[in-house]
Amino acid sequence: MSNDLTRLTAAELAGLVSKGEASAVEVTQAHLDRITAVDDRVHAFLHVDTAGALAAARAVDERRAAGEKLGPLAGVPVAVKDVLTTKGVPTTVGSKILEGWRPPYDSTIVQRLRDAGTVMLGKTNMDEFAMGSSTEYSAYGTTHNPWDLSRIPGGSGGGSAAALAAYEAPLAIGSDTGGSIRQPGAVTGTVGAKPTYGGTSRYGLVAFSSSLDTPGPCARTVLDAALLHEAIGGHDPRDSTSIPAPVPDVVAAAKLGATGDLTGVKLGVVREFAGEGAEPGVTAAFRDAVDTLTKLGAEIVEVSCPHFKYALPAYYLIAPSECSSNLARFDGVRFGLRVGDDGNRSLEEVMSLTREAGFGPEVKRRIMIGTYALSSGYYDAYYGQAQKVRTLITRDFTAAFEQVDALISPTTPFVAFPIGARTSDPYQMYLADLFTIPTNLYGGPGISVPCGLSEGLPVGLQIMAPTMADDRMYRVAAALESAVGTFTPPAL
Ligand code: GLN
Repeated sequence: MSNDLTRLTAAELAGLVSKGEASAVEVTQAHLDRITAVDDRVHAFLHVDTAGALAAARAVDERRAAGEKLGPLAGVPVAVKDVLTTKGVPTTVGSKILEGWRPPYDSTIVQRLRDAGTVMLGKTNMDEFAMGSSTEYSAYGTTHNPWDLSRIPGGSGGGSAAALAAYEAPLAIGSDTGGSIRQPGAVTGTVGAKPTYGGTSRYGLVAFSSSLDTPGPCARTVLDAALLHEAIGGHDPRDSTSIPAPVPDVVAAAKLGATGDLTGVKLGVVREFAGEGAEPGVTAAFRDAVDTLTKLGAEIVEVSCPHFKYALPAYYLIAPSECSSNLARFDGVRFGLRVGDDGNRSLEEVMSLTREAGFGPEVKRRIMIGTYALSSGYYDAYYGQAQKVRTLITRDFTAAFEQVDALISPTTPFVAFPIGARTSDPYQMYLADLFTIPTNLYGGPGISVPCGLSEGLPVGLQIMAPTMADDRMYRVAAALESAVGTFTPPAL
């Protein structure tokens, strides 16, 4: 029984718990056992909170025993990317600079997970400060892709995606600044959704690039992702950029999509992303997905978004600029690591030694690029220009959404690559997010849903919708899933 529970969806597990056919403790223990069995090979987790998880599960069982009506995800385990603060539970952001830090408060997302009765299993591995596409930039070792342990699970949220694909958790939380939910979803054969910017709270999300950072749901099915999205989304007065509006009805949209009927839905294939730039196997799987969507009743047209090709360079000015400012707070005084504080050194020396020892090479690269781009002599040429490009990309989206309901493209240009293949050339790593970054610059929602295999490895379809129309992408994703099914990695 224990092993079977890890194969079920979140919706199924919640059903069992609410009917009393399985206890939340049993469900949680099954996942903890699975973590014990496989995580030495996968390394999805940086911290497993066994005691906290079992206590949360017992609380759900007690509420049920007392006759309380449980919510739609009560008793379901969830893995949380280590970018979100968890009260009293280590939060490292994959960096040595926060080693040993136990935050004094919960992020809003984590608070809402608790309110929903989900059971937090622990914190998942990630590229340091969410900068990367493979988890190879984590200061705590690489996560391995459950489809092929010699390959990357994507990044920065590779730990969350790998935990799902390895059946260590049925639900996970990620954060998407340039693709870090969708790209890991694509390369692990799981579902990852980036909500509309401001649709999910950034309170307690360790900041990388505040105008782009968006926490969101990861799952193995579209319905599970929608249920999680609904649980964590919605206005938060503690986040100044949170949108004061209800979460779009993503669960109803996923259920509607699951009927497999897309009649009346008009989808735009982004011309610039449909041919060049992707591996042949990815393009082939994408073309098959387009055929499937047509058979489901969708009308497909080609749409040109001429400025999307400038998204990657603009992102690699805007995100580092914001990061250079945000990461100034890691000074060896307020959080985590402090180096060289022997009573003889100045404050400045201690800060410098701490940052030198605490940040990895990619984070240092970003801080330097951002500091340069924001410097008075280069501000207009780099940061200012990038902001103008951002406006042009938003105009491309706005024009496209006058013609179509949603845009589609492959999620990533390539399938999971071998560990080590792209670490020597940062640009090769950055290319992983070629297709996901425009959505972040615009601020709209995007989802990656598995659409097929290339050389035995998963390929994701990306669906991009207008801001606050997150429900549309869930409908299309669920329809595709109803036709192609879910994807299971070879047994670990
Ligand atoms: N891979 C991109 C980067 O390195 C995106 C990261 C993210 O979405 N957090 O910046």
